[in-house]
Amino acid sequence: MTETVVIVGGGQAGAQVAVSLRQGGFDGRIVLLGDEPVLPYQRPPLSKTYLAGELARERLFVKPAAFYEKVNIEHQLGEAVCAINASEQVVCLDSGQTLHYDHLVLATGGRVRPLPCSGADHPQVNYLRTLADVEAMQDKFTEGTRLVVIGGGYIGLETAAVAVKHGLKVTLLVARPTPLGRVTSPEVGKFFEAVHREAGVTLRCDTEVVAIEDDGGDGQVAAVVTSCGYRVLADLVVVGIGLLPNVELAQSAGIACDDGITVDEYGRTNIDNIYAAGDCANHPNPIYQRRLRLESVQNAVDQGKTVAATICGKDKPYAQVPWFWSDQYDLKLQTAGINAGYDQTVIRGDVDSRSFAVFYLREGRLLAVDAINRPAEFVVARNIIGKNIVVSAERLQDESIPAKALADVPVNSGSTEDTTKDDAHNQERVA
Ligand SMILES: Cc1cc2nc3c(=O)[nH]c(=O)nc-3n(C[C@H](O)[C@H](O)[C@H](O)COP(=O)(O)OP(=O)(O)OC[C@H]3O[C@@H](n4cnc5c(N)ncnc54)[C@H](O)[C@@H]3O)c2cc1C
Repeated sequence: MTETVVIVGGGQAGAQVAVSLRQGGFDGRIVLLGDEPVLPYQRPPLSKTYLAGELARERLFVKPAAFYEKVNIEHQLGEAVCAINASEQVVCLDSGQTLHYDHLVLATGGRVRPLPCSGADHPQVNYLRTLADVEAMQDKFTEGTRLVVIGGGYIGLETAAVAVKHGLKVTLLVARPTPLGRVTSPEVGKFFEAVHREAGVTLRCDTEVVAIEDDGGDGQVAAVVTSCGYRVLADLVVVGIGLLPNVELAQSAGIACDDGITVDEYGRTNIDNIYAAGDCANHPNPIYQRRLRLESVQNAVDQGKTVAATICGKDKPYAQVPWFWSDQYDLKLQTAGINAGYDQTVIRGDVDSRSFAVFYLREGRLLAVDAINRPAEFVVARNIIGKNIVVSAERLQDESIPAKALADVPVNSGSTEDTTKDDAHNQERVA
């Protein structure tokens, strides 16, 4: 009998599951259900080239419409799945339609964390998660617009970089002492702070937004009030203060959740034939020996592949070194690994030259790297972490050793898989 896989969520992970199922030889029915009214698209350009007007809309899409038709992947867009009946193996859509599944994949991603202050519903306050979000604010991305960006994470910094290049008057408000404070070291945060100031961004760190007021009473201008007593006027406010995983659908079906939908290394939830992948999933990572919920294309793609393999009966545990990138001005930041718990940083290269890498170690072992305009260090660090090679701090720092030779020391233990081989492909697809 033909089996049906239903995928809830038409984002990067959902699309990957569908594509990988076909590539893996699954010849049953595949139905992709998404509440956004468009085919799956890549989000990274939304705060980079697409926001800058440098990328055509059709290039955002993971696959063109003709592809889904060709490989017989059905899609139903613009409508949410509102319930799962796990004992009957049925999902219900908002319209009342029901759909039977043999395998159900939850790739529901996340939604923006709302600004927790009064006036946050001001008409000039925008978020940046979806294509619709960007398109709603694009006509304001013109010279002279006063923009306040709230949030010093990747999305806030990228938005500020694009805006200031377009001649907007940009103020960036950061709650922590330095930008990127949640994900990187003070060294890297301070570097990006200096870069943005130099580019003309007015940057205020260590300050929280306490209210949004309407200046003038007609909804045209917002006044952003901060804990330090600043009151900054804005024609446009963009908020980027994090993501909340979409777990409610899973939770109400009795699926275990804890900072995301809990899955095992094969992407399986605690309920038979239900899987999760991408931003919404919390998985065990054998490299770091802890559970992680990641918000990255790498994770959405690789977990999507894992879930598809599991459904095809070709189980392969998910065991990847996480990686991420951010583009700001002439800088490409590439991060490999997770730096949580580091006790030493090693800087390779010269910060002032805007080309350097910061390695994060714990007890002499490499945990992560932030490579700024240093692709070779990024690639080799992924290899070192993935293969659990011990490389001394002195060696990592020594520029007389070419970056690609840094890992040429005896392998201590761990995986021998080459985790670097997809780099060029993956980064090119979204660049
Ligand atoms: C502006 C921006 C820039 C980024 N830049 C980078 C970057 O440079 N590098 C990087 O690695 N990552 C980046 N990311 C993160 C990356 O895009 C995400 O990690 C990735 O898109 C996650 O894919 P996903 O499929 O898990 O989730 P999503 O892309 O969020 O897709 C989930 C989809 O499911 C839908 N959905 C949810 N619930 C339901 C339901 N009940 N019924 C139907 N549909 C539902 C959602 O509306 C959404 O369309 C960026 C993200 C953003 C927003």
